[in-house]
Amino acid sequence: MATNSKQLILVGTECVGRYNFPGSASHDLPFKRGDTLTIISASKDPNWYKARRTDGLEGMIPFNYVQAKKSPTGEPLPSSATSSSPTKVPSAVVSQKTAVKLQSMPWFHGKLTREEAEKLLERGKNGQFLVRESQNFKGDYTLCVLYEHKVEHYRVRRNKKNFVTVDDEEYFENLFKLVEHYQHEADGLCSRLKYSVDKTKDIEYVVNMQDFKDSGWAIPRRHLTKKSQIGKGEFGEVWLGEYKEIKVAIKMLKDLKDEKASQKFLQEASVMTTLRHNNLVCMIGVSLDESPIYLVTEFMAKGSLVDYLRSRGRAVVTKQNLLDFARDICKGMVYLESQNFVHRDLAARNVLIAEDGAAKVADFGLTREVFSRSEGAKLPVKWTAPEALRENTFSNKSDMWSFGILLWEIYSYGRVPYPRVTVEDVAQHVERGYRMDAPDGCPEAIYTMMKEAWASDPSKRHNFARVNKQLETISAT
Ligand code: ADP
Ligand code: MG
Repeated sequence: MATNSKQLILVGTECVGRYNFPGSASHDLPFKRGDTLTIISASKDPNWYKARRTDGLEGMIPFNYVQAKKSPTGEPLPSSATSSSPTKVPSAVVSQKTAVKLQSMPWFHGKLTREEAEKLLERGKNGQFLVRESQNFKGDYTLCVLYEHKVEHYRVRRNKKNFVTVDDEEYFENLFKLVEHYQHEADGLCSRLKYSVDKTKDIEYVVNMQDFKDSGWAIPRRHLTKKSQIGKGEFGEVWLGEYKEIKVAIKMLKDLKDEKASQKFLQEASVMTTLRHNNLVCMIGVSLDESPIYLVTEFMAKGSLVDYLRSRGRAVVTKQNLLDFARDICKGMVYLESQNFVHRDLAARNVLIAEDGAAKVADFGLTREVFSRSEGAKLPVKWTAPEALRENTFSNKSDMWSFGILLWEIYSYGRVPYPRVTVEDVAQHVERGYRMDAPDGCPEAIYTMMKEAWASDPSKRHNFARVNKQLETISAT
């Protein structure tokens, strides 16, 4: 389930830095984005390689910070997060990465027979849908849609370029893009895809502990030292700890006997192994050899953004700081968007601040509220786009809505959004067109950005790449 980086970079490969890597330990090899590095050897930890710079200096580098110039077979390797031209990725890597992300899509049910799919859909509403693996055509998918009490099964085929289609007319880069398209319009299907069938109620083991061990993400418990408790989350306590002389955050799973909880927890971890960016909280590994399970991530010394803003306030946090937070978060989101990954819980409480003040998006591994919605768990209503509340259609554009709310939180120094509106009333207000006023002292350009993020029609909202460009041109005051 987790990525096996050994397929990505082989010894002798020439790589280019995708991001600046300052290094933290003495054996690390610092480099800048664009620098050329040659891989000398793999290490026990599949995420780290020994490499040589052009000036001859050698040391350890994290593989996700570099990109191979050419793969051993001569095929170009995955394009960097910031590059706009899509390059071909070796298929083994694609299928592995896609498998993880597909599992995290609520509408993807994996191995499911035609009959099981019909059973899941039969009592649904028009436009209810799911995607399963095709039984007859190995490697293909089947899109199942309910309309007028009948389930249509559309075979999703691939062309030579690995693009997918249901009608041989319109092709999409991947299944996410295809589903997203038909969520907007029926375009020849029996119905627009309106409601996804939530798979979690019946979900069994989608994440296998052995996968973590095999892929090198497992950290032996004896290599971890717990220092002090720093927080408490949905899964349990969060501790400051130490791993290989580096400070780390340790998230513990409170009750291992609860299989569902450990599933969710491991799912978060498995998704985190595939996503890596300077503005995303970085996963270091999972510790599974003792109970409870630990998720180990980089330590963010200044805690959550919302606490940071509230505790320091206007006296300490400058306008430039606010703008830098917004820019950092947006960059992390541009990356998630480029990976077709929807966060669903973007909010200041889920942004963490590093020692140097950099903001990084956290909690991107899990769609917890949505997954457990039917069990009465709460959605972060004040942060969630109206169409997501109404129809359960989450997208990068619903993340953009949340980003607008997050901007409001930043510029109000951590206030709770819609201050005088209760959670019960907020959705109705918003549906009727109510939008928050600008926080005191908020620059006009930022408020415009918020209002654009809060367009009722998701297609009218900009994407993160565009907003990122806008943020770059805005001045702090
Ligand atoms: P939840 O599972 O509820 O989302 P969080 O991940 O938000 O839990 O963790 C709860 C709190 O623990 C955060 O608000 C923050 O204060 C602290 N925390 C979590 N992760 C880290 C980290 N990587 N570095 C520092 N503090 C953290
Ligand atoms: Mg959180």
